Amino acid sequence: MRWFAFLIALLCSASAFAGVSVNKRYRSALNPDRPVRKSTELIVLHTTEAPAKSSLRHTSERGLCHYCVVEDGTVYQIIDRHRVAFHAGCSMWNAKEEVDEFSVGIECVGYHNKAMPKKQLDAIRVLVEELQKIYGIPDDRVVTHSQVAYGSPNKWHKCKHRGRKRCGMLFAMPSVRSYLNLKTRPLFDPDVRAKRLVVKDAYLNKVLYTSVDTMVASYGKGRVKGVDPTKSRAGVKIEKGGKKNGVKENAKGKTVGIKGEINSRPPTKAFNKVPQTISDLNAQGYVVLGTITKKKMPLSIAGKNWKASDTYYLYKGKVTPGNLIDPKNVKEGMTIWRKKK
Ligand SMILES: [Zn+2]
Repeated sequence: MRWFAFLIALLCSASAFAGVSVNKRYRSALNPDRPVRKSTELIVLHTTEAPAKSSLRHTSERGLCHYCVVEDGTVYQIIDRHRVAFHAGCSMWNAKEEVDEFSVGIECVGYHNKAMPKKQLDAIRVLVEELQKIYGIPDDRVVTHSQVAYGSPNKWHKCKHRGRKRCGMLFAMPSVRSYLNLKTRPLFDPDVRAKRLVVKDAYLNKVLYTSVDTMVASYGKGRVKGVDPTKSRAGVKIEKGGKKNGVKENAKGKTVGIKGEINSRPPTKAFNKVPQTISDLNAQGYVVLGTITKKKMPLSIAGKNWKASDTYYLYKGKVTPGNLIDPKNVKEGMTIWRKKK
């Protein structure tokens, strides 16, 4: 049957797109809970500061980015790109707070001050280019997490300050940007200039806005032009069924560019199969009702359905139906799933 082959293709973990493969093995179970983003004005680049395995697990479990790019260039999709991912934390750019609400977040496995393998940067370049086309984002709106993160007043800093972290710092360096084919970057910090924030990390500020570059040995000398961040244009909205920036869209207004994401919403047709993995739960339209904590037990999350056979408990990748759950085995961190009404 044709639809069956289609579903298999859809659930297949890797799908090709313009030279980069999007792997869905770590697609977050939290996707159904995440609202659709209203606008997209920035692409925020992060460094995970941790090895691939723990980075993937961590970002997937908490839905902390849209994509995670590992050293060999594999791109993992974590949160669907049209939804909100929690990647920027306390953040502001050009007076707009809550950067998560208007950005796509890419986690890159690696460290903020260490060169990444060229294979990985090649994948990041293709992914970023594709997203820039889709959302109409100019090069100087591809920023680092450290550029948009800010810290609230604390013991050491009386004011709101920039320099809460150095995440993604290398992506501001001219050599790395040139390698990524990003020809411009912000000329200055708009929030510092407007005195909304003060600079706490002078070195970081230098890297972001002067020609300090510790990656020249790895990628060669690069050049970038500074652009006034307060004047740079915002994201270009792509009309439904329209065509802008060379990105084709089909009649339903879905982008054709990133294959495998076109059908990122779970299919509505249910299988007659008992869900056994997170992907099964997602594919069959189950959503998370809540997570078990000391204060939130199954009854308060699922009500009378807590022991129903069509309620599922997910813990460490294992799915158990409610009728088989032993109350003694109910653990903190377990999520409870039921079909969306
Ligand atoms: Zn970050």
